[in-house]
This record gives sequence, C-alpha cells and structure tokens, in this order.
Amino acid sequence: MTPSIRLYVPAPLSEGVKIAAGDGQAHYLGGVMRRGVGDAVLLFNGTDGEWRATIAAIKRDRATFTVEAQTRPQLPEPDLWLAFAPLKRDATDLVVQKATELGAAAILPVITARTNAARVNTERFAAIAAEAAEQCERLSVPRIAEPVAFERLLRDWPPERRLVLAAERAEAGPIRPVTGPVALMIGPEGGFTPQELDLAARHPFVHMVSLGPRILRAETAAIVGLALLQASSGG
Ligand code: SAM
Repeated sequence: MTPSIRLYVPAPLSEGVKIAAGDGQAHYLGGVMRRGVGDAVLLFNGTDGEWRATIAAIKRDRATFTVEAQTRPQLPEPDLWLAFAPLKRDATDLVVQKATELGAAAILPVITARTNAARVNTERFAAIAAEAAEQCERLSVPRIAEPVAFERLLRDWPPERRLVLAAERAEAGPIRPVTGPVALMIGPEGGFTPQELDLAARHPFVHMVSLGPRILRAETAAIVGLALLQASSGG
C-alpha cells in the first residue's frame, strides 16, 4: 500500500541513507498520525525525486528514517514565479498555499507604495509552502525570497524572465500563453499607484495584462493569474 504521508526533507535521498526528521515532523508522525517504527512514509527534497522510507526510530520530538527505494523520479517543473504584495495574514497564507499548489517555483514578497502588511514572515511562508507541496504531491517546494521594494525588484530583475503584471483598470489585453521563464506580479489591496505602473511600463520585460472587467481581490487575482500562466506553460 502506498504510504499516505509525504514529507519534505532538505537532505540528499538515496538507498539506505538515514535521515533525521525535521522540526515538528516527529510530533506529526507519532502524536497526530499515530505512526511508529517500521511504518512507511514518502520523502522528497526537490532534487532527488520521491523515495519510500520507513521510520527507523521515533520519540515525541525526534525521528529518523531509513530511505529504501525511489518511487518517482525528479521531473522538470514550470519555471513560473509569483511576485506579490503581501496582504492581511489569512489572504497571504492562502496566496502562498495556492501558488505552491499551482507550481510556482519561487514566491517573491514585494513591498509597494500601498502594501499594508506590517511584517513579512518568510519562515511562515516556507512552512505553508512545504505543507502544501506535501499535500499536492509536488516534488519540490517553492523558493521564498526575502521581501524587496517594488522599485528594487524592477531594477534587479533578470531581463530574460517575462514579468506579467496584472494591472487593474489598465487598458491591457488578457494573459497570453508564454514560453520560457515567466513571473506574475500582483498588487496590494489598494492596487498599484500610477507612478508604479509608469515605472513598470518603462521596462521591456514587463507585460501588463488585464484579468477581466471585474476588480478581483488580490488573492483571487494571484490564483487566476497563476492558473492561466500555468495552463499556458503546460505545467
Ligand atoms: N484597489 C484597486 C482598485 O480599486 O483599483 C484594486 C486592487 S485589486 C484588489 C489587487 C490587485 O489584484 C491589483 O493590484 C491587481 O494586481 C490585481 N487585479 C485585481 N483585479 C484585476 C483585473 N481585473 N485585472 C488585472 N489585475 C487585477
């Protein structure tokens, strides 16, 4: 029977290696899922594919696994990033979780003029992303970047990557299929300022798009935009 528990472990995976469980994983396995020594789990680390392992030892806050056999090879994943202005906590958590499910390779918190998120907790983002990757059976977890100001993001942007900027109320066309590296940029609840849109428009890698005639919540826009880009990139 295929084990139902998948865990992300940032450690090399190969036959016979012993791996220590990460923070919270021992408690989750033993305390929540009532698993014990000899029970099977699936492990992935973002580079070596997915491996079946068994619990070799487990206590309240510690566990070790013995890696047995590869169950899925590592496959290429869409090269799709999400840059977004952090929102209120629940909405931000939703964006990180859905971006992970939709295959985002990187999640970039961007501080714009109207961003009203006091603190950006990237450790929280990483934990949410790992859990979402485990649940949706991805073989990787998105990279979480440190927060950056919008102007700095544009200044340091890799020019070979198309930046699809969702510009509410702008005269812009819909998202079209994009090949190659791409990112979606979503603004804050208050939207982009005219100055930010002017600045963005001056960069050749920026491509303004409309997500339709209605003004979507930022979290809705992130999910819709990623789904459209993911579908067009075949990922
Ligand atoms: N307060 C802004 C206003 O009333 O114009 C709306 C901002 S909207 C809640 C948050 C973000 O979602 C926007 O900055 C944009 O990135 C995206 N968004 C929402 N609706 C959109 C649309 N119809 N087209 C393009 N982007 C949209």
